[in-house]
Amino acid sequence: MKLLLVLLALAGLAGLVATRVEPFAPDAILEPSVDILGRATPLRVVARDRGSGLRRVEIRIGAPGAESVLVASEDFPRRSWWGSEVHEAVLTPTVDATAAHVPEGSATLEVWATDHSWLSAMRHHPTLSHAVTVKLTPPTLEALSNQHVIRQGGSECAVYRVGADAKESGVQVGDRLFPGVAGLFQDPMLRAALFTIPPDGNGPAPTLIAEDAAGNRRTVPLDVSTRPRKLPEKTLVLDDAFLQRKVPELLHAGGLEDTGDLVAGYLRINRELRSASEVKVREICKESAPRPLWEGPFLRLPGAAPLASFADLRSYVYRGNVIDHQMHLGFDLAALRTNPIPAGNRGRVVYAGPLGIYGNAVLLDHGLGLFSLYGHMSEIAVTLGATVDRGEIIGKTGETGLAGGDHLHFSMLLRGTYVDPVEWWDEHWIHDHVLARLAAFPAAGATGGAAGGAATAREATP
Ligand SMILES: [Zn+2]
Repeated sequence: MKLLLVLLALAGLAGLVATRVEPFAPDAILEPSVDILGRATPLRVVARDRGSGLRRVEIRIGAPGAESVLVASEDFPRRSWWGSEVHEAVLTPTVDATAAHVPEGSATLEVWATDHSWLSAMRHHPTLSHAVTVKLTPPTLEALSNQHVIRQGGSECAVYRVGADAKESGVQVGDRLFPGVAGLFQDPMLRAALFTIPPDGNGPAPTLIAEDAAGNRRTVPLDVSTRPRKLPEKTLVLDDAFLQRKVPELLHAGGLEDTGDLVAGYLRINRELRSASEVKVREICKESAPRPLWEGPFLRLPGAAPLASFADLRSYVYRGNVIDHQMHLGFDLAALRTNPIPAGNRGRVVYAGPLGIYGNAVLLDHGLGLFSLYGHMSEIAVTLGATVDRGEIIGKTGETGLAGGDHLHFSMLLRGTYVDPVEWWDEHWIHDHVLARLAAFPAAGATGGAAGGAATAREATP
């Protein structure tokens, strides 16, 4: 009996030791590796534990000769007898090196991971120790162009100089960044950024920003005066014939549920499919050639009367009731049925195919973040990746997508944000607001003197 009790006690002890004193220490890796820590440095730490599971993961920063300071942590409480049963955790904090009061210079980034084993208390070294440089000074940034005059919904061009340590820079307008483009000027630190402000005039003033890889950000004011715009109010009357013709087809094409209620279906198209189309347009407009591909003013559909213009505030009326409001962010141009559509300017086809409310559509990249969009086409005559010249026929007008009749929906965009095409149809405006600003600084490859402009910039870039 005594022996049995001893054996039981021993078995219990063995079980306790095996489960609570398991010897597998956690490990941690920094993925991707980080060399510079700043005011807002994103980290990704992966911690693993084979035994009882992770208990706590700490991220600490230490200056030479000083005790490290906690900057981020996560706890994994015991969930069962076995421990937390968390065998892998990914921590993605954005750490601020100033919180650790570490001066600029060399420092150590430490990860301390503990598990639920009693042996954890006996481990006195960091799980991971990684040498880093603390950098708290943001990149230098200087506005070079001034007296920008921008109409609400219009475009402008800023030229600025930025430090070599900048990872990202440009003109910030609210939550939109219009990044600057390098390579146009003799001075490799110069950047040009086309930008816009919202057509309704809401939002903060444009500023220049520059940020390094460690998240140190500098903001510099930009000399901008804005010209207000009166947004025209337009009414669009919807009839049953139009709804019957378009709603089932577009719900199907957009992968939206068709309940049979035409008005409800129309609202889903005008709201959900519209915003899904805009998300896609923004995605397509993320990458742009780093030099102007366009030359001269943009072309308008010849002989076409505008049915709608940029930033019209549309009220949608059905059986006498206003059922929806949307802003129309382009021009509706009607000429002959299936009228050939010329490319507005030289550019590269970055999209050709069905595009939500725009039906069959083509998007051209004209470089420096400038794009043109052609919607409701009955026929597309270009293929993805092709370069088209100004005036080259890219297809024919039609009424695909959310269109009540044959016309071309023409939009222009800067980095996926709609801008008023009127300015880009105007040679003088382009000269004053874009080309003259670029030409004010010696172009890359030019032999002395200011020689900017689209042609020089293009020739200079391989
Ligand atoms: Zn339109």
